[in-house]
Amino acid sequence: MKTVIFRADDPQTPKKAAEIIRSGGLVAIPTETVYGLGANAMDEAAVAKIFEAKGRPQDNPLIIHISCAAELERYCHDIPDSAYLLAERFWPGPLTMVLPVRDCIPKRTTAGLDTVAVRCPKTAVTRALIAEAGVPIAAPSANLSGKPSTTTAAHVLHDYGTDGRIDAIINGGACEVGVESTIVDLTGARPRLLRPGGVTPEELRALLGDLEIDKAVLEQISNDTVVRAPGMKYRHYAPGAEVYIVTGSSEAAAAYVRKRFTDGDAVLCFEEELPLFDGCNPTAYGKSSDVRTLSAGLFAALRALDRPEIKTIYARCPEGGGVAYAVGNRLKKAAAFRCVDAEAEL
Ligand code: AMP
Ligand code: MG
Repeated sequence: MKTVIFRADDPQTPKKAAEIIRSGGLVAIPTETVYGLGANAMDEAAVAKIFEAKGRPQDNPLIIHISCAAELERYCHDIPDSAYLLAERFWPGPLTMVLPVRDCIPKRTTAGLDTVAVRCPKTAVTRALIAEAGVPIAAPSANLSGKPSTTTAAHVLHDYGTDGRIDAIINGGACEVGVESTIVDLTGARPRLLRPGGVTPEELRALLGDLEIDKAVLEQISNDTVVRAPGMKYRHYAPGAEVYIVTGSSEAAAAYVRKRFTDGDAVLCFEEELPLFDGCNPTAYGKSSDVRTLSAGLFAALRALDRPEIKTIYARCPEGGGVAYAVGNRLKKAAAFRCVDAEAEL
C-alpha cells in the first residue's frame, strides 16, 4: 500500500484524512510547531501503530490534539482555572497542558499515567481534520524516535518513505515555530514547565504568576530516573554526530573551532557568523538577530547535518529567555548538555 499525500489547501483533505483516522490509520499532520504522526487517541490499536512506526519507547506518552478548548472537558477532569486562562490566551497555539485524564483515553496513549497532555494546534487544516474525525488525535513529533523532529512534509517522507508505513501525509509546508510545543504541568501545587517551546516562560509567568522549571529542562536525566515528562530523559533531537555547544563571542568560537577542525567536523552557526567559520563546513540555521528564524530552522539544519561522514558538530546556541530558551534547550539536548566555553579554552 502506498502513502497518500494530501495538500493542506485542498478542501477535501480534512474529510479524506478523517476517514483514515477513524478507520485506525496513521496520518502525518502539519502543525505550527512540528509535523506530528497522528492516530485516533481513543483507539488503542491505532495508537500502538504510532509507537511501532516511530520506534518510540512505550513509556513515552503522547500528546492529544483537540480542535477547540471546549473539548477539554471530554478528556480531562478537575481542570483548574489556570487551564482555562491559558487556553483563552494561547490556544490555538504551541502550548500543551498536562491535566488529570478521563477513562475514555486508553492507557496506551498516556503510557499508563493518570494525566494526559493536551493541545489545540493552530494550523487550520489540522483542526478541521480533528473536528471532522470527531475524536482527539494523539500525535507525537513525526520523526523516527531519537532523530531531529520533522518540520516539513519532505522530512516525514524521508523518515517513512511512500510504501505505506504510514497511511498519509498532509503537506502544509514548513512549520512556523519549528520546535515542539511548550508543555506545562497543571496537576501539581505549582504550575511546572516540562518543556520550553513557542510560548515562553515569561509569558506563562505573566499569566500564572508562578512557574517552576522542571529538572529535565535544565540537565541530562538518566534513563532510570522517574521524571514528569517521560520523553525528556531520552537522547533527543540528535543527528548521528556528537554535538558540542561552543559558547562565547563569535570570534572566540571561530578561533576555538579553527584550532581543532578536522575532516568529519561541521559547524552549526548563526547566519551572521558564516564568514567567520569559512572553511569549517558551516551550516547556518537562522539569524541570531531574529530568534524565530533560529527556532524555525533548527531541525532542518540538524537533519541536513545528519550524515554518516559528519562525526562532530560544533554548534552555536542562542542565550537568554523567550524563544531562545526553547532553541537552547533543544540544542543542549542534542548535545547531551556538552558545552565548551571558547573564551576560557583559547
Ligand atoms: P512529542 O510528541 O515527541 O513532542 O513528545 C511528547 C512529550 O510530551 C514527551 O516529552 C512526553 O513525555 C510529554 N508528555 C506526554 N504526556 C504527558 C503527561 N501526561 N505528563 C507529562 N508529560 C507528558
Ligand atoms: Mg518528539
